[in-house]
Amino acid sequence: MLMKKLISIITPAFNEAENIDKYYVEVNKVIESQKDNYNFEVIIISDGSTDDTVRKVEQLVKKNKRYHLIEFSRNFGKEIATSAGYMNCHGDAAIILDADLQFPQELILQFIKKWEEGNDVVVGVRKNNSGNFVSKLGSKLFYSILNRISDTKSVPGSTDFRLIDRTVIDQLNKFTERNRITRGLIDWMGFKRDYIHFEARERVGGRPSYNFIKKVRLAISSFVGLSLFPLKIAGYLGIFIMITSSILLVVIFVGRYIFENRYIASITGTAILAIILMFFVGVILSCLGLISLYIATIYNEVTNRPLYIIKRII
Ligand code: UDP
Ligand code: MG
Repeated sequence: MLMKKLISIITPAFNEAENIDKYYVEVNKVIESQKDNYNFEVIIISDGSTDDTVRKVEQLVKKNKRYHLIEFSRNFGKEIATSAGYMNCHGDAAIILDADLQFPQELILQFIKKWEEGNDVVVGVRKNNSGNFVSKLGSKLFYSILNRISDTKSVPGSTDFRLIDRTVIDQLNKFTERNRITRGLIDWMGFKRDYIHFEARERVGGRPSYNFIKKVRLAISSFVGLSLFPLKIAGYLGIFIMITSSILLVVIFVGRYIFENRYIASITGTAILAIILMFFVGVILSCLGLISLYIATIYNEVTNRPLYIIKRII
C-alpha cells in the first residue's frame, strides 16, 4: 500500500480565542472527509496572543494528536508566524488558513486536487474585495505598481490562502531576509501555479488586527522588499530636474544675449538665480540616486536571497 501523503494546515493566530472552537469544528469536517486519502497535521502559531488562545489550542492538542501549537514569546506579526509554520511543518504540501475562517476552508479539497494535478503553488484569489472604495482602489493600485516595478508577478486579489508543495517550502525556508512578505516571496519564486477564486467571508468573531495603516505599511515594505525602484526614484527625479533647468538656462542665455529677445531680457535676475539653484538641486538629487545604486547592491547582498531556484535536475 502506498503511504498517504501528509498535508500541513498552518494557522497564524493572534488573539483568536473566540474563533478557535468554530475553527476546530470546521477544520475537522475537512479532515474527516479526506482522512482515508491523506494524513493531516494542523499547526497553530499563537503570535503573542494575550487572550485565551493558547489555553484553547492546548486543549485541542491534548484531545487530537493532529494538532500542534507553536507559541511565540510576543507578537511578531503574521508574516513571521506563517514562516515559523513553514519551517516547522512536515507536510508534502502546506496550506495557510486564517484562524478567523475568512478563507472558506472547504476549498482545501480543491487546493489539494490542483496540487495533485501537478501544480507546485495553488493561490487563492479573492473575488469580492470586501471593504470600502479606498481599500479596493488601494489594492488595485498596489498590484499594478508591484507588477510594474519588480520581477514578482502577483495576480490582483492574491491572498495568503494558498497551498505550496514541499519543494517550494524547502526553498522558502532558505530565505534569510527578515523583513518579509511571505506571499511576495512565493510569487517571486515562480514554479507552476494555478489559481482558485473564492469569496472571502466575514470574520467569525473578534476584530481584524490589520487596519488601514498596517496595510499601507505592509504595501510599502512589499515595494521596498521586492523592488529597488523606490531607491532609484531620487536619481531619476534629479536627472529630470537637471535637464529641464539646463534647457531653461540655455534658452534664457541664448534669447537674452544672442537674439536679444525683449521678453526673455525682461526675466529678472532673481528668477534666473532660482533656475540655477534648481539645477544644483538636480545635481544633488542625481548624486543621491548614484549612492542609492550602491545601496541597492548592498541590499541585494545582505538579503542573501538564493541566486536562482531550481525546480528539478534530470
Ligand atoms: N495574525 C497574526 N499576527 C498578527 C496579526 C494577525 O498571527 O499580528 C493572524 C490572525 O490571527 C489571523 C490572520 O493572521 O488568523 C489574518 O489576520 P486578520 O484577520 O487580522 O487580517 P485580514 O487579513 O483578515 O485583514
Ligand atoms: Mg481575517
